[in-house]
Amino acid sequence: MSSHKGSVVAQGNGAPASNREADTVELAELGPLLEEKGKRVIANPPKVWEGRWRVIPYDVLPDWLKDNDYLLHGHRPPMPSFRACFKSIFRIHTETGNIWTHLLGFVLFLFLGILTMLRPNMYFMAPLQEKVVFGMFFLGAVLCLSFSWLFHTVYCHSEKVSRTFSKLDYSGIALLIMGSFVPWLYYSFYCSPQPRLIYLSIVCVLGISAIIVAQWDRFATPKHRQTRAGVFLGLGLSGVVPTMHFTIAEGFVKATTVGQMGWFFLMAVMYITGAGLYAARIPERFFPGKFDIWFQSHQIFHVLVVAAAFVHFYGVSNLQEFRYGLEGGCTDDTLL
Ligand SMILES: [Zn+2]
Repeated sequence: MSSHKGSVVAQGNGAPASNREADTVELAELGPLLEEKGKRVIANPPKVWEGRWRVIPYDVLPDWLKDNDYLLHGHRPPMPSFRACFKSIFRIHTETGNIWTHLLGFVLFLFLGILTMLRPNMYFMAPLQEKVVFGMFFLGAVLCLSFSWLFHTVYCHSEKVSRTFSKLDYSGIALLIMGSFVPWLYYSFYCSPQPRLIYLSIVCVLGISAIIVAQWDRFATPKHRQTRAGVFLGLGLSGVVPTMHFTIAEGFVKATTVGQMGWFFLMAVMYITGAGLYAARIPERFFPGKFDIWFQSHQIFHVLVVAAAFVHFYGVSNLQEFRYGLEGGCTDDTLL
């Protein structure tokens, strides 16, 4: 029913005369969408993607745009034009915060990645491996953040486009998590290549499995919000096993100092908090309609993802510094 309303909006008033009465009723329901002159609704509404459109309430959204029923107003109408979608980046609606949080995060990690890649090798040790392991992390972060802001931008284009980009968005999260594991495992298990290879292989298998699951059409539906949070939480929490391994082998003191466990713990708390707020839709569930534009759960989740990735980068950089320092090299009696 609601998807039919959406198509009425998209097609303008091209319906045959016999349908005109029904259309008038629907157009009246879509009041907020249409530009008004005085109190009269224009009979021939402009195609919304050709410039003038207004945000619409949740109730009149087509089914494929209905994601969060605690966001009552401020939604973009369906606009099957990429130009209109990209122009909407500069308008205020329910997705503005989601787009900008990851667009700015993308710019931050792109610059940070370029700086790190171009940085002269300070330690004269394994320069190629250093670039590769950090490169994997930055590739994951940049892909995740760019897929995300692109998805939120074109989400209102059409059912097909939103579905395709949501799959890319979820795959990006898996890539970020996999990429984050690479430098962390590389420097944590610097002197024991065998467990390092095993853990790296496991996280690759789990990450690819998550990407495969994300291709399932129903994965993106509101019904599976908890499933999504669970899949990515599970992928991230698989890091508990190598963490325990490191702590048991090296001792708690070394794990927290050398191993930078404090920073990785902070990172984990940020990811888990983000996933929790995302799954439970806090705070908007307690105040429906009050967080339509700013501070909805998805935006907080976005900010926490960027902050967690930054904390992770900081922790891994410290870990690398130790490995290349005087006491960080491998000797015969060091286990790790
Ligand atoms: Zn998002």
